[in-house]
Amino acid sequence: MEEYLQFFLNEHFSKNLDSCTSEQLYEALLCFVKDRTQSMKPRKEKGRKLYYISAEFLIGRLLGNNLLNLGLYEEAQKILEKHGKNLSQLEETEPEPSLGNGGLGRLAACFLDSIATLGLYGDGIGLNYHFGLFRQYLSNNKQEEHPDKWIQPQSWLKKTETVFPVYFGTTEVQARLYELNVTGYHSESCAKLRLFDLEQVEEKLVKQGINFDKTDIEHNLTLFLYPDDSDEEGRLLRIYQQYFLVSAAAQLMIQETKNRGYSLEELSKAAVIQINDTHPTMIIPELIRLLTEEGINLDRAVRIVSETCAYTNHTILAEALEKWPLSYLEQVVPQLVPIIEHLDKRAKVISPYQKTDIIDLNHQVHMAHIDIHYGFSVNGVAKLHTDILKSSELSEFYQLYPKKFHNETNGITFRRWLMLCNPKLSELITAYIGEGWKQDAQQLEKLTNWIDDDCLLSALQKIKQENKIKLARELEKKSGICISADSIYDIQIKRLHEYKRQQMNALYAIWKYFEIKKGNLPLRPITMIFGAKAAPAYTIAKDIIHLILCLQELFANDPQVSPYLKIVMVENYNVSYAEKLIPACDISEQISLASKEASGTGNMKMMLNGAVTLGTMDGANVEIYDLVGDENIYIFGKSSKEVMNLYETKGYHAGKMYAADKEIGRLVDFIISKEVINLGNPISLFRLYKELISKDWFMTLLDLKEYIAVKEKMLCDYENRRAWSQKMLSNIAKAGYFSADRTIERYNREIWKI
Ligand SMILES: *Cc1c(COP(=O)(O)O)cnc(C)c1O
Repeated sequence: MEEYLQFFLNEHFSKNLDSCTSEQLYEALLCFVKDRTQSMKPRKEKGRKLYYISAEFLIGRLLGNNLLNLGLYEEAQKILEKHGKNLSQLEETEPEPSLGNGGLGRLAACFLDSIATLGLYGDGIGLNYHFGLFRQYLSNNKQEEHPDKWIQPQSWLKKTETVFPVYFGTTEVQARLYELNVTGYHSESCAKLRLFDLEQVEEKLVKQGINFDKTDIEHNLTLFLYPDDSDEEGRLLRIYQQYFLVSAAAQLMIQETKNRGYSLEELSKAAVIQINDTHPTMIIPELIRLLTEEGINLDRAVRIVSETCAYTNHTILAEALEKWPLSYLEQVVPQLVPIIEHLDKRAKVISPYQKTDIIDLNHQVHMAHIDIHYGFSVNGVAKLHTDILKSSELSEFYQLYPKKFHNETNGITFRRWLMLCNPKLSELITAYIGEGWKQDAQQLEKLTNWIDDDCLLSALQKIKQENKIKLARELEKKSGICISADSIYDIQIKRLHEYKRQQMNALYAIWKYFEIKKGNLPLRPITMIFGAKAAPAYTIAKDIIHLILCLQELFANDPQVSPYLKIVMVENYNVSYAEKLIPACDISEQISLASKEASGTGNMKMMLNGAVTLGTMDGANVEIYDLVGDENIYIFGKSSKEVMNLYETKGYHAGKMYAADKEIGRLVDFIISKEVINLGNPISLFRLYKELISKDWFMTLLDLKEYIAVKEKMLCDYENRRAWSQKMLSNIAKAGYFSADRTIERYNREIWKI
């Protein structure tokens, strides 16, 4: 490696390892790793190949991860050290690929890591967004959105010669394939992430912020992930984008199937397509269309494609279940409309339920319904989520196709989310139970043998403390904010959405603020850390960010409060930030309204790093609870049954709750107090206030008081340091179940059968 780096630096920059800049050294390492992965063994290309198709792949930085997977991390570290350089500092020069939004995209990335690690024959297929979702800036206590320009001249992407035409009616554009090698942990060969890009894409279209001409589809298709769909142009653009992805993907699959010696009649023997949420749904009618063009009759084509496609549902939020007006599809992809109408007719013959229509009475096309009728498998992403799908959200479909339904509880890759981001903890674990856990995560359970071992318990505490100090330094460097590593780090990091209830956490902050003002000081200072992006057109979500930032400023400037309570909202929360925050977390906030969070994966990452969960019985929190038991998790709030019953009976009235309870009233009123209004925008704060006392669709006020009480208990319990360390250890020991390796093995066993 050293020779390669010296040669490269000399050749390209006339520098050496001692005299080069970080950027030059990064480039040298990038090329070294890229060369290394190029020359690895090709995969065995036999049998069924998995295509994991997704609008998002939130892969995070790759240098460190690839070095780790290739077994070269320590060698690189040593070489750099010898020349006065530092590898983890160097990793910071890599721009993070901005190809995803949140949990769903991160899941796809974790799955690729496990697919490569387990040596399964499969690729990810997505789009190469030049400016990603957006880069978040926080200024004047508000979120600002800017293009996230992450692609540099030298990157992990490799341009290929493969180009496919994509037709929107008579408009033709070109889809160019780029590829990126995905390394597995100590595996002999790589998987691939294959990203299509619009050949004629025009970055100059983007004017101030993230605004651009949404109608110029010949030049804008791969500029941004999820363009704002609050207007019709934006909604049409999403359909253009989706079809661009699936049309290119379908052509690639057909080409590869033929090249591998299969006939298209045998498509389901050659390929299995996992459709990650509904965004790539049009792959189904598109493949049917292409098969009929190749001379296969329509009935056969429908059957072949149905045997090839499987669908993952990620949400039961009504607004997130995609449906498009048929007229939009007629405008964007007229060639698919006759097929979708045919699929709808057939579904109406099979099913007695109107709720399972593909095209409903209002001429809306329900994308998930295409997937369920014409895929061979439907899966939810946590036990509770799958149960809710079966018993309520998709119950008619479950009646029709009980055998199609599976549960595949989400998982995370322990390579990135422990070995890479928390090397000290990783080493400690290995010192006690050996290396086996790195490939068989269940072995972490052996740690429970030391649950009374003071040596291990204090080592755990020490590592947590070091990670907290490291994070404090990082925050100071990045934002100038000083936090005390002796405070409790209470962390809520995830996309901003009302159902995730960051607003409830903010109301807790107000409650604590009142307590401190009254002289009820906490036993130990508390640092409340938030990280979240809000969708650019999601007004209330932005109002919540605004409230949090106003509170941050209010507390920071109050000398009575700031020594005891601090809020820090980090800017542009992403994977790289998560890797710094999670190892330092004491309290993991997982407080969604029960029944609304499909799984969550942030909850898994934090428990694996020794944080204790404060959460509702929602998503995978339920499975965490079952694993760690009552004494190692803090649960509060109404159950999913109670919540669903309240929706059904319209039994929840925020206004009544607000009026009947003085304590709640006082907290909510503070949002529009002069203290807060002075720091912020009255329109935004009033809007949020009114939302909470009139609608509060996600029942913040319902769970608020119990939330406060349980959080107080938790802060109190933190002071029993030994008992807390035992909770930490129990969480780490039980986290093995949430390895993505386990999840992928199950997908393969139950669905893909590669
Ligand atoms: C894991 C992760 C998420 C998902 O977090 P949840 O708490 O499960 O919503 C979102 N964003 C990033 C950057 C992540 O790493």
